[in-house]
Amino acid sequence: MINSHCHLNDAQFDNDREQVINNFLRAGGDAAICVAWDIESSKKAQQIAETHNEIYYSIGVHPDNVEDFNEKELENLIISSLNNKEKSHQNVIAKRSYHKNAVAISTKNGFNSEQSAEISKLVAIGEIGLDYFHNKENKAEQKRVFIKQIELANKYQLPIIIHCREAYGDTLEILKQFAPFKFGAVMHCYSGSLEYANELIKLGIKISFTGTVTYKNAVNVKEVAKTIPLNSFFLETDCPYLAPVPHRGKRNEPAYVKYVAECIAALRNMSVTDLISATDQNAIKFFNLK
Ligand SMILES: [Zn+2]
Repeated sequence: MINSHCHLNDAQFDNDREQVINNFLRAGGDAAICVAWDIESSKKAQQIAETHNEIYYSIGVHPDNVEDFNEKELENLIISSLNNKEKSHQNVIAKRSYHKNAVAISTKNGFNSEQSAEISKLVAIGEIGLDYFHNKENKAEQKRVFIKQIELANKYQLPIIIHCREAYGDTLEILKQFAPFKFGAVMHCYSGSLEYANELIKLGIKISFTGTVTYKNAVNVKEVAKTIPLNSFFLETDCPYLAPVPHRGKRNEPAYVKYVAECIAALRNMSVTDLISATDQNAIKFFNLK
């Protein structure tokens, strides 16, 4: 079971991070993507991923933190993450191709620490996007930072993880400029309409669902999760936020992705095993985990 978006790098996990990761593994977790929101959390995500076989990570600046964005600093972090020794762009790309092969071998029978020590576990740029709920005053700056990070993702052949809150029109406009996303794009914590989801899917963009799908009043999200093609989405928790029922209101953790799976499987009238197997395949392909 893959959790495509958690914030294990959040301070809320500082006291019991090992326990929380163990809970995930015991619940049937195979891999989780630790997602960043600024420079500090990018470095922390890297450190967590480099010390845990099952954890991969992203680097990026969330629209709430645009003042933290420095293109050169972020690019340097990406380069050093992809390859500590070889600095040139070409070498980074070559190393990344090697990474794919190495992971394919190591995932066959669990993860091989010897191989994973040599590969980069940076698998995406994110979370990036637009958030007009928290700040409507700096729209132009948010767009600039979003676009710069999409360009960086393309340059280093990485998929993007998109955050969008109350900025659907502007987000879609930017995404249309860059589609099709050769290296992948996912709209995380989906909370829009079915119509909007279909627009994204037409552009080749994936959808990921959090625990919000389990909430009683989440009529639209339930409809989307029930309707869109099985190959177009995957699962996440966005923990420590948005804990699914039956833990709603408490701290969320990666293991709770199983409640997201159970809810969507029931909506789609299929077994939880089949749902997880399909969404795992989608996530593995998307993040190049195999
Ligand atoms: Zn998030």
